Amino acid sequence: MKVIVVGAGVVGSLAARELSKYDLDITIIEKNLDIGWGVTKANSAILHAGYDDPVDSNRAKFCAKGNAMYTQLSQELDFEIRRTGSYVVAFSDQEVKTIEELYEQGRINGVPGLEIHDRNTLLEKEPNLNKDVKCGLWAPTAGITEPWMVAIAAVENAVANGVKLVLNEKVVGFEKKGDQIKKVITDKNSYETDLVVNAAGLYADQVALLAGAEYVPLHPRRGEYILLDKKMGSIIKSVIFPTPTKTSKGILVLPTIDGGLLLGPTAVDLQDDMKDHLETTAQGLEQIRNFTRTLVPSLDFSQTVKTFCGLRPESPQKDFFVQASKVVKNFVNLMAMRSPGLTAAPAIAEYVTQEVIQQAMGFKLSKRKDFNPIRRGIKKIVELPLQEWQELVKGDPKAGRLICYCNEVTEAEIVEAIKRGARTLDGVKFRTRAMFGRCQGGFCSIKIMKILERELGKDMSEIVLKSPQSWIVDGKVRE
Ligand SMILES: Cc1cc2nc3c(=O)[nH]c(=O)nc-3n(C[C@H](O)[C@H](O)[C@H](O)COP(=O)(O)OP(=O)(O)OC[C@H]3O[C@@H](n4cnc5c(N)ncnc54)[C@H](O)[C@@H]3O)c2cc1C
Repeated sequence: MKVIVVGAGVVGSLAARELSKYDLDITIIEKNLDIGWGVTKANSAILHAGYDDPVDSNRAKFCAKGNAMYTQLSQELDFEIRRTGSYVVAFSDQEVKTIEELYEQGRINGVPGLEIHDRNTLLEKEPNLNKDVKCGLWAPTAGITEPWMVAIAAVENAVANGVKLVLNEKVVGFEKKGDQIKKVITDKNSYETDLVVNAAGLYADQVALLAGAEYVPLHPRRGEYILLDKKMGSIIKSVIFPTPTKTSKGILVLPTIDGGLLLGPTAVDLQDDMKDHLETTAQGLEQIRNFTRTLVPSLDFSQTVKTFCGLRPESPQKDFFVQASKVVKNFVNLMAMRSPGLTAAPAIAEYVTQEVIQQAMGFKLSKRKDFNPIRRGIKKIVELPLQEWQELVKGDPKAGRLICYCNEVTEAEIVEAIKRGARTLDGVKFRTRAMFGRCQGGFCSIKIMKILERELGKDMSEIVLKSPQSWIVDGKVRE
């Protein structure tokens, strides 16, 4: 049986990997040049505990479960997670009341280990918090990860289990017979299929519309961020949320996996046709600076490394739309994946495979006996014991050549990233963390371009940042 998954974000990637446990012929079609470059690329990267999702919503159904699944998933797929825990902090009596409501909601949602900490306990754990804090809701299961790495790892494992990955092809239509899709049409090819899983992120409504299936209208909700240098990384240890409002979880302060500090996001609804408006705004960044100072007054914005923006696929229902189409009999929607979609994704992948495709749609799937759940990540060479590193260098001098000084990435890791599919500067960046540090590639990007040029047998002028037109150099100044 042939299955097409549209979209290689965290949702499509984990769904494809889950489906690869069964005897199926699976193809992922992704319009970008690499995996995880949609909504998955720019978000808060939090594994949410699950207390702030309305009881009986799909968000509540999948969040705490997905959060718990990340422990095994990260071990099988060898990506990093850190269970930092999170605090929702209250500064007024009204906010204390909201925290008590969240505690109760979390208890109903099955979130383990929730506690309300008084001011002293809270300040003992997080001494840099604003001293006016009254209390905080502690969620020990909350954590952080690198969302794009979850998607990359899932696809690498899926491909090792036989899944085909098609990049740089956009789904533009479907060929149907009656109420069944027979072919998926892209801008370059067409693919026969028996089942389509729509995980197209912000564009999932348009893909469903092309298929003639049910959909919820999606509009982008802008979230801007400021990333501070590692010097600020230990100013707090856990994820710090303000007390949420009806519309948003608010602007947060949180550590990143590679040791920096992330501040944001804002929440501004944009028009439906602004799904590629990833610009930041002076107003949004000012809002982040002003607000986060009220949580952690000693934040030093001279340590700003980068600002960026992510777009949430927001729907009027404010909930995930996860279901088999009733009108197109072989079409499944995984749509409206706003927060906590990253956290929920493993649980959604399992649910869609077992309860939607097999039970509700009636597809008979047989489990493969040879499924291998294990994928190993690219070895971080500077973290090896010195003797082991020295041995490695004897066999491969590239393991001894540091290319990215900020995040200490060697040439051997960059070459390995290229072997695993990186074809662009961003492809190397998101697989190795090179160019992710303080200098943002100022010193190392030219060296990485030369490695890409050599390994891919291309000319420097053909090396791009992330899209086919995003070339960096135009030619030689001197011959
Ligand atoms: C500001 C912000 C903060 C967030 N914070 C968190 C958080 O802390 N924790 C959390 O759990 N969740 C968070 N989320 C939500 C989370 O990021 C998303 O739920 C998740 O990344 C959605 O993944 P996806 O795979 O559905 O979408 P995407 O990552 O967008 O993947 C969809 C893919 O489909 C591709 N595609 C689209 N159309 C086509 C087509 N026609 N043909 C082929 N390919 C196509 C796209 O290129 C894309 O790669 C946040 C989101 C935002 C924006």
